[in-house]
Amino acid sequence: MRVAQLGSGTPEIAVVAGVHGDEPCGVRAVERLLDDRPAVERPVKLIVANEEALERQVRFVDEDLNRAFPGDPNAKTHEGRLAHELVTELEGCLSFSMHSTQSHADPFAIVNGVNETAKDIVPQLPVAAMVETSNFAEGRLFSAIDTIEVECGLQGSETAAENADRLTRAFLTAVGALPGDTVRRDLPVYRLTDVIRKDQADTYEVFVDNFTEVEAGAPFAAADGEAQVAAESFYPVLMSSNGYRNVFGYSAEKVDVLESSASAD
Ligand SMILES: [Zn+2]
Repeated sequence: MRVAQLGSGTPEIAVVAGVHGDEPCGVRAVERLLDDRPAVERPVKLIVANEEALERQVRFVDEDLNRAFPGDPNAKTHEGRLAHELVTELEGCLSFSMHSTQSHADPFAIVNGVNETAKDIVPQLPVAAMVETSNFAEGRLFSAIDTIEVECGLQGSETAAENADRLTRAFLTAVGALPGDTVRRDLPVYRLTDVIRKDQADTYEVFVDNFTEVEAGAPFAAADGEAQVAAESFYPVLMSSNGYRNVFGYSAEKVDVLESSASAD
């Protein structure tokens, strides 16, 4: 784990990259901040989490770090120990953690719950949606540390790296670490309702677009040509044919639209 800091004093905000080793976009954003060394109005901790996995260009070494929190210093897995180290390092910080996906090119935010911090900060980020994980937060960083996660775009793409940079700067501006103003936008909020499992198969297909409602009765995915049909209407989130080993993604309900004109109190 690499830890660096902008500004002096004890940081209450942190930017976290490389929780997954095959998602280099956030690392690029952190490296750029370290190269540019912008003057900050409050100290910021910068972390590159899973250097071992990044070096091997794999999601993880032993287990998914973002399912391993809060971790344990005596854990048998690399990520189990790393989770504990990261929690210790992030104690007392609002964290901004960058990811990328195989499912969706437009940036969106993922939060544990739509609390006041999320309602204040996330509409100031260049994201198209906020997703609340609710029941599906177990082991994720934000189950242990106050965290806003962002999906920056498609894994390994140049666009995702550019998005990571823009998102980080917007976050740092929204929390008052960087000078300037942000743009507040209307933001649809989705809540995950279920995991969409996939059976063991040689080929997988997904027929629907993330954040676009799937009608009841519509086929939305297939494993070896066998279609899965929606029992009821839902919004697909993080759906991709080969992004995860056992699941296509998640179903979600649309719960709210945060209006940009609403006061932020
Ligand atoms: Zn990730």
